[in-house]
Amino acid sequence: QQVEFVKGAVSMETLPPDELPEACFAGRSNVGKSSLVNMICNRKKLAFTSKTPGKTQSREPHIRRHGPVHLFASLNSLLLLRFHLVDLPGVGYAEVPKAKKVEWLRFYRDYLSHRKSLRIFFQLVDGRHGPLQDDVELMKLFAESSSKNPNQVAHAIVITKMDKTLSAKVLALFLLLPALPDSAGQAQEGVMDKVRRTLSEAGCDEETPVLLTSSASKLGRGDVWNYLQLALQD
Ligand code: GDP
Repeated sequence: QQVEFVKGAVSMETLPPDELPEACFAGRSNVGKSSLVNMICNRKKLAFTSKTPGKTQSREPHIRRHGPVHLFASLNSLLLLRFHLVDLPGVGYAEVPKAKKVEWLRFYRDYLSHRKSLRIFFQLVDGRHGPLQDDVELMKLFAESSSKNPNQVAHAIVITKMDKTLSAKVLALFLLLPALPDSAGQAQEGVMDKVRRTLSEAGCDEETPVLLTSSASKLGRGDVWNYLQLALQD
């Protein structure tokens, strides 16, 4: 697989022309988006991870230089896929200034409604707590905006950091109960249930695929690729 950085953009006007099908990744700051992008591209540093939520948008020089939206051109010769991978700015963390949040939400709305080449919107949700208010807002925004797009945009929820969720639950159960009644399965079901309820409340399709991932253990890498392939070839 070849991946190259194409452009950093700050607005619809600065995006490159609609020439390649696009898959975009979105979610709250610190949800694990950069780590996921790096995982699916098999790179260590394609997208920049940060321990400090919100830091990537404001302080790191490479982000200031490139703008909050990052586009990469990816060619997977094994799957015969050539597409733009779009890393959208993280929204919804207290440390992100309110004006920036409003500006980026406006961008999200325009992008989802008008970007003709957009094929799939991967929305990341942190598996440690499931969907929060900002995630619900983003689901609503997707439901409203993508319905205006003349092309069909697929939606998939990507649950991140499942390694943390599973090990925390397993440990808790281990301390409280001597037997371990399929605890990993229960933890997964808990997150999935929460996501399904939230999707329906937000006006999204309840059957939206929900993918469980961990960038630490590479869980779910194949699932993300499967959905990418399906959406890009439609
Ligand atoms: P972004 O702000 O959404 O791009 O989030 P980052 O990818 O920068 O990740 C934020 C923090 O979460 C970093 O400290 C990452 O190392 C950590 N992180 C991301 N994904 C995972 C994961 O799957 N498992 C674990 N344990 N930590 C993760």
